[in-house]
Amino acid sequence: MQTSDLVALDRKHLIHPVASFREHEQAGVTILQSGRGAYLSDHQGKELLDAFSGLWCVNTGYGQESIVRVAAEQMSRLPYATGYFHFGSEPAILLAEKLVELSPASLTHVYFTLGGSDAVDAAIRYITHYYNSLGQPQKKQFISLERGYHGSSSVGAGLTALPNFHFNFDLPLPTQNYIASPYPYRSPVGHDDAAIIAGSVAALRAKVAELGADNVAAFFCEPIQGSGGVIVPPFGWLKAMQKTCNELGILFVVDEVITGFGRTGPLFACLAEDVQPDLMTMAKGLTAGYAPMGAVMMSDRIYNTIADGAAAHVVVGHGQTYSGHPVSAAIGLEVLRLYHEGGLLANGVAQEPNFAGGLRDLLSHPLVGDARSRGLLGALELVADKDSKQRFAPELKLHERIATAAYEQGLIFRAFGDNILGFAPALCYSSDDFALMFSRLKQILDTVLEQPEVRKA
Ligand code: PMP
Repeated sequence: MQTSDLVALDRKHLIHPVASFREHEQAGVTILQSGRGAYLSDHQGKELLDAFSGLWCVNTGYGQESIVRVAAEQMSRLPYATGYFHFGSEPAILLAEKLVELSPASLTHVYFTLGGSDAVDAAIRYITHYYNSLGQPQKKQFISLERGYHGSSSVGAGLTALPNFHFNFDLPLPTQNYIASPYPYRSPVGHDDAAIIAGSVAALRAKVAELGADNVAAFFCEPIQGSGGVIVPPFGWLKAMQKTCNELGILFVVDEVITGFGRTGPLFACLAEDVQPDLMTMAKGLTAGYAPMGAVMMSDRIYNTIADGAAAHVVVGHGQTYSGHPVSAAIGLEVLRLYHEGGLLANGVAQEPNFAGGLRDLLSHPLVGDARSRGLLGALELVADKDSKQRFAPELKLHERIATAAYEQGLIFRAFGDNILGFAPALCYSSDDFALMFSRLKQILDTVLEQPEVRKA
């Protein structure tokens, strides 16, 4: 079909995620058509280097034929098997076993979801069941980080601490609370790692004291905050938060939806610091975006408490038709093989200096105030004034200017509204891909800087 006809139909019928409906009607859809490795083509045949892995998920890159093969084989053998009524399928069982083998030792049981939001939602439901089973029904308060993102389910979006996810949705709930984000670039203590960690520990302790430890169920966090602006806390922060939760008697839940599956180097960010969460959520890189799937993993203690929380014949009433979908699970197994035996994790680690170095080099650019990354997850923060770190005025719509210039240059990344540019290149990137990415990026920043309104600001 003609592009213009598709754009008209999209405008008429399709609701887009996390978009201003009216702005989308104005802008119209950009239709993506095909992908190979790190590159995409749009409907007009324009080639684009994807420096965001779709939506931080296509960690393997596009067009991995072995994934397509296992998906097709599984579809023709058995496209669907329910997990209800004690049924199951081989790929779901094998993937659960693999995840237990490859994740922190504290996590022994897996529940499969369709993505990250319902993994968070499942975690909240299981935690509620756990404390009720334990005879501690008053433990209902949840704490997360300012600028945190934990999906957009009707309850989970309240743990997300971004205003658009609350506005007109009657969130947060009275049981949802936040502490300050460990944000080195904008922290009052600057880049003093120990002080940032101590500040978060003190803030969590203070919030738990304010709510009453007997009322607090869990603390949720991302090892690196993604949608809040790729905020990279100091190494050791995650471990310190785990220790504090253990001391306070609250559950420690790590949301690895973005940071999992090689994004920060190891398979999970928790593994780099020997962090042992009580629960962990994941999605995205689990199937590298080739099919929808997420998971929540939990410890023996939580599993067994829930198991014994009611008479043995009473079902734990949580489930979805597609939990443990065999095609997604078969894809997950193949994706894990590509990360390990296929050398993708190793390539990601080998390429990290190209990524981190490229971002750091741009610190000399007049627009760039901060460059930060871990593994292949990173950001540039643009500022109007480097000394005061002042942001550009919202009316300037810098992110839209950047996005327009980026598309023209043929580079995809995420331009956040608060002047932060987020990057998550696939683990298959070569040195040449990084060279092209940074030459296009420099060109984009130069183009935007030359605009008279930006120059004046
Ligand atoms: N948690 C985190 C940390 C995420 O980044 C996301 C998605 N960006 C989610 C949860 C929600 O995942 P999904 O969009 O697959 O529902």
